[in-house]
Amino acid sequence: MENNTRIGVFFCNCNGKITEKVDFEPIASEVKKLPKVEYVRESQNLCAHLEGELICKEITKNQLNRIVVVGCASAKEEGFFKEVLNKAGLNSHLLSMVNLREECCAVHEKSAKSAAKALELTKMGIARANNLEEVSFGEIPVNRTVLVIGGGLAGLETALETAARGFKVILIEKEDKLGGRLARVNSIIGVDHNPADLLEEKVKAVTSNPTIDVRTNTKLGDLDGNIGGFTAWFVKDGVETSVEVGAIVAATGVQTIFCPVKYGLGIADNVIGQMKLERLLADGKDFTHKRISIVIGKGTEAFNLPFVIAVKNALLLRKKFNATVNVFYTNIKVGGDNWEKMYTDARGAGVNFFKFEDNIEIVANNGEIIVNYEDPFLKGKMPGVFKVIADYIVLPEELVPAEGTDELAKILRLELGPASFFSVDNAHILPEMTSRDGIYLVGSCQSPCFANEVEISAKAVAEEIFQKLDAEQVSTELTQPYVDATKCVVCLTCYRCCPHGAITIEHGEQFKNLYFSAAQMNPLACRRCGICASECPGKAIQLPDYTDDQILVQLEAMEVLP
Ligand SMILES: Cc1cc2nc3c(=O)[nH]c(=O)nc-3n(C[C@H](O)[C@H](O)[C@H](O)COP(=O)(O)OP(=O)(O)OC[C@H]3O[C@@H](n4cnc5c(N)ncnc54)[C@H](O)[C@@H]3O)c2cc1C
Ligand code: SF4
Ligand code: SF4
Repeated sequence: MENNTRIGVFFCNCNGKITEKVDFEPIASEVKKLPKVEYVRESQNLCAHLEGELICKEITKNQLNRIVVVGCASAKEEGFFKEVLNKAGLNSHLLSMVNLREECCAVHEKSAKSAAKALELTKMGIARANNLEEVSFGEIPVNRTVLVIGGGLAGLETALETAARGFKVILIEKEDKLGGRLARVNSIIGVDHNPADLLEEKVKAVTSNPTIDVRTNTKLGDLDGNIGGFTAWFVKDGVETSVEVGAIVAATGVQTIFCPVKYGLGIADNVIGQMKLERLLADGKDFTHKRISIVIGKGTEAFNLPFVIAVKNALLLRKKFNATVNVFYTNIKVGGDNWEKMYTDARGAGVNFFKFEDNIEIVANNGEIIVNYEDPFLKGKMPGVFKVIADYIVLPEELVPAEGTDELAKILRLELGPASFFSVDNAHILPEMTSRDGIYLVGSCQSPCFANEVEISAKAVAEEIFQKLDAEQVSTELTQPYVDATKCVVCLTCYRCCPHGAITIEHGEQFKNLYFSAAQMNPLACRRCGICASECPGKAIQLPDYTDDQILVQLEAMEVLP
């Protein structure tokens, strides 16, 4: 505690909301008796602009260096008072907020007990103010190169969008050429171009851009560091190289698994998956007047994409080849822009849709495919098994993450979701965000998506990276936890429990302990959740604004009410 601490306590009655339950006068007279409290004032509405100016003047006039606001404690109001402190030349962290509105008035009737509680809460806030510490800003140097992993549509779009915002880009692709799934599909609904033209245009734009360095047959072998300062090790033909990058975008997409055995069928020319159908269509195969049965569902219902692809191809086969198309489905999921219309168009064009439950049997017989099924809608009126004969059967494929996604997740220190795709951290803030700042997801690697969604995601991620790494130095408040190296035994507990991968173990003579090492929290990657501080067995970690001392003095100031 500083000797020259001078505390100002400002009561706000929140337009009468607080004083209708709690009288400030007895509290104020008790507070005035407390050591270091130099100034007490009550106001009707402390967060009004003019009141802010008045607080500023009183801080200067009374040489106050700690401020306690007794009223509410919403984040918006806290921001307002922090600005007031800044204007008055005080560090904004020398502010203690006491939330009488929610913690007392909203939950108690006016009584002697609630008055006593209000006094206790105010005393706790003042005790905290006594122990507040200044927090400074730091200038963190950052690397402005972005690593994009995966050269499908998502990777290509992301590379172009980030390069357009002035970043250098390194795009790595594990195969020997760019394109991913897009190189193999026949048509893309929702996008004007045909896939081959779209791909050619994107690949040309990427490969001719001097700020984009494309490395094929390359994989990420290891990764160290955090946002603004990652070191990535690439592996190509067994040789390792390292590069420094500031942000990483995973765009590793999906793979399709075709498993006709699941439907009692073997591999045959007329037993195909949607991916193969796309390929045959792209290669110009003629399906004129053919009988084609398409199956949707049975374990592929987790995603929208298989339904939309099936309806898209059913409509195309019907319209272009006048084929007889029968779609057998367990469910139709066509939520999304214009997909519902496409389904209605398919029905209008003469595509037949038959619902089945578990009771479908598919048999290959002399080059024909027979589908036996019971219709749940007709069960009561026309019970029995219906038989549909086809020349081709198109079965749904399983959509699973790209091979090696689990290995990559370990390298990136990211969690995988229930279907083993990369998991999004908070879809409401940014659906492309991972639990680690500086690492983002675009395209199908988080869930199979449509081509038009890829462009939106790539733009959002490029903009986010631009906001985070917009200059070679990033200014940030150093409110991340700090470690007392003399207490750190390098047990790695904090390293393992940090949900945001923000902790590294640093080595050097400056760490005065047996190991010359200590855990360090990265100010750009840390989200100030405080988990590491509460988990450290050596009590070596303190979180600014919530240090052990600040919490303990508040508890000491609290009297347990009967
Ligand atoms: C059968 C089918 C039909 C479709 N039809 C449509 C449609 O009609 N309309 C529509 O909008 N969308 C459609 N899509 C979806 C569309 O193809 C994708 O949205 C689009 O191609 C974006 O894919 P992506 O870049 O995320 O992934 P992918 O195309 O899968 O690309 C991922 C890339 O990353 C590479 N990679 C993977 N792991 C690594 C690694 N560890 N290191 C380096 N590189 C790696 C892969 O080799 C690949 O090149 C269809 C998809 C399928 C499967
Ligand atoms: S948990 Fe504590 S003692 Fe263990 S490494 Fe982290 S700071 Fe050091
Ligand atoms: S406060 Fe949370 S995010 Fe920051 S280093 Fe500790 S555990 Fe990680």
